[in-house]
Amino acid sequence: MGPRMIVTVKQVPDTHNITGEAMKEDGTVNRAALPAIFNPEDLNALEEALKIKDQLGGTVICISMGPPNAAEVLKECLYRGADDVVLVSDRRFAGADTLATSYALKCAIEKVGGYDLILCGRQAIDGDTAQVGPQIAEKLGINQLTCIAAVVQVDEQSITVKRSVEDGYEIVRSQFPVLLTVTAEANQPRTAKAKLVMSYKNIGKELCDDSYDEAYLSPGTCSAVSHIKEWNVESIGADPQQCGLSGSPTKVKKIQSVVLTACESKQIPNTEAGIAELMHELIAENIIG
Ligand SMILES: Cc1cc2nc3c(=O)[nH]c(=O)nc-3n(C[C@H](O)[C@H](O)[C@H](O)COP(=O)(O)OP(=O)(O)OC[C@H]3O[C@@H](n4cnc5c(N)ncnc54)[C@H](O)[C@@H]3O)c2cc1C
Repeated sequence: MGPRMIVTVKQVPDTHNITGEAMKEDGTVNRAALPAIFNPEDLNALEEALKIKDQLGGTVICISMGPPNAAEVLKECLYRGADDVVLVSDRRFAGADTLATSYALKCAIEKVGGYDLILCGRQAIDGDTAQVGPQIAEKLGINQLTCIAAVVQVDEQSITVKRSVEDGYEIVRSQFPVLLTVTAEANQPRTAKAKLVMSYKNIGKELCDDSYDEAYLSPGTCSAVSHIKEWNVESIGADPQQCGLSGSPTKVKKIQSVVLTACESKQIPNTEAGIAELMHELIAENIIG
């Protein structure tokens, strides 16, 4: 039958393109003003889930919390072979810090239910905290394996992974259910399939409150997804006080681009002595070593 897998995917501002309008007066990020992209390591998390599905079967359900246009990253998931997608969207989620974000995602994951494996990216390129994955696992009370560089072995009950640690790797095994955070090192994400792009490019969103449709996704009956499920605060049974700005002890005060400008330059002779002198200087200035 294969594992039931949930992948959390985030739409992020293209941080190579930060402009003056990046922040709103209320301290929330002005996502509409910034070009939005698929968080890179979430593509690696999705790829790992799809590889396991290729090997063992099972289902892949992708969840994203974000503004209405975050539906674009969910379409990208369908174009690559995800079985179902859910957009968790409500103005009351705006300004969420990692505590409030992981709370809302935990509620949505519980609504889907029956999961064996949850896959997140190690980190998002905007907040860069790498906190949401571990926080979701904590709130669900399940094991977590972070910074995954490779999946070594997986079967119907457990998974063995290679984790990146400070000075190398470690091999760890966990029974299901378990949450993984996946790094860019783990795989080369597949590209969108033309046939799936044609079937899903005009897919619409539909706000729905009903419970997650079990039969709908039982293996072998996976019919094409007819719409992107949209869930708000009530749909996921969340406490509004724990969502968005009201549920966030931390607030982003200001974000701005850091542009590195060269202040002085020095010619290094391409000799043993020249390179040795350069290495010595870099170590002395704690730039390396
Ligand atoms: C510049 C900046 C600095 C910030 N600093 C902080 C801070 O110090 N503390 C703090 O609490 N908040 C901070 N935030 C807010 C934080 O970005 C949001 O809370 C965000 O939703 C989650 O944190 P993250 O971006 O660090 O994600 P990470 O924890 O790095 O994300 C890890 C993984 O969790 C999943 N994930 C994260 N967000 C979502 C989502 N919305 N939908 C689906 N999956 C998701 C993805 O798989 C992602 O790869 C910051 C935001 C910005 C823009």
